[in-house]
Amino acid sequence: MNILVCIKTVPDVPHAEIDPETNNLIRDGLKMVINPSDLCGLKFALNIKEQVEEDVKISVLTMGPPSAEKDLRDSIAMGADEAYLLEGLEFVGSDTLATSYALSQAAKSIGDFDIVFTGDQTLDGDTGQVGPQLAEFLEMNQVTYVSKIDYVDGHFEVNRESRGGTETVKLNTPFVVTALKDSTGKPSKFALGRNELADTIEIHDLNVNNIDLDPEKIGQKGSRTWVKEVYAQEKSETGQIIDKGSLEENVDFVVELLKKEHVLV
Ligand SMILES: Cc1cc2nc3c(=O)[nH]c(=O)nc-3n(C[C@H](O)[C@H](O)[C@H](O)COP(=O)(O)OP(=O)(O)OC[C@H]3O[C@@H](n4cnc5c(N)ncnc54)[C@H](O)[C@@H]3O)c2cc1C
Repeated sequence: MNILVCIKTVPDVPHAEIDPETNNLIRDGLKMVINPSDLCGLKFALNIKEQVEEDVKISVLTMGPPSAEKDLRDSIAMGADEAYLLEGLEFVGSDTLATSYALSQAAKSIGDFDIVFTGDQTLDGDTGQVGPQLAEFLEMNQVTYVSKIDYVDGHFEVNRESRGGTETVKLNTPFVVTALKDSTGKPSKFALGRNELADTIEIHDLNVNNIDLDPEKIGQKGSRTWVKEVYAQEKSETGQIIDKGSLEENVDFVVELLKKEHVLV
């Protein structure tokens, strides 16, 4: 069984600050990490490797700058078998459609996959579009917002979360899964005895010269959307927590406050 896990290197946005003057992310000293839900996808893949009796090969793929190689090596240390870096200036400016097209062509050039994992959404772009678009390009079924996946009696059983509850879906390969953040434990960093392999393994380089793709469909040329403006959310005033003692005292305080503001007379 062949499994592909798509990972993206992202800034650690929850710990980032916005420059109040420029409204841009302050990138100095900002850590880059593997997008958290992509690690959940990798963990799902590693669990499947333990559940399925046949041989399972896990490949990881990222489209990004050369520095993303570190995250690919970390994925190998966590248990993945092969790593692919799709890179090149031609991909710069890609929107989600161009990104998922490029990833799909990269995946096709690597081989046939039974399951493709992506995260549900990233910490930076945060669109949640790449997984479903990738499934369309690969012409594979898709199951999104997955919190659990198990191999049971020759097929897969998947829990997908929706606002109304949890839906259990039974399905056969091939399919694309978008893994929900915090859905599963992350892979242990690092699996025993894999550090040396992670340091020495060949990272397969994919680029416009060695995969089959239409140059009109990648980068800015291949993008159907563009970013018009980026701005930081306006900060609203925080509310006041009233805790003057008993319920009566709190109510009296609120009534006085409303009178002062001429809401009550
Ligand atoms: C108009 C426009 C222009 C842009 N220009 C640039 C630019 O110049 N430079 C730039 O860096 N970004 C650019 N971006 C952002 C870029 O399009 C997104 O980073 C990319 O498409 C992924 O979108 P997302 O982060 O919303 O992913 P989501 O759809 O939220 O991601 C879902 C999952 O898809 C997978 N995935 C997403 N991206 C990758 C990837 N690159 N490799 C492997 N797996 C992946 C991951 O598993 C991820 O968890 C641009 C976006 C737009 C809309």
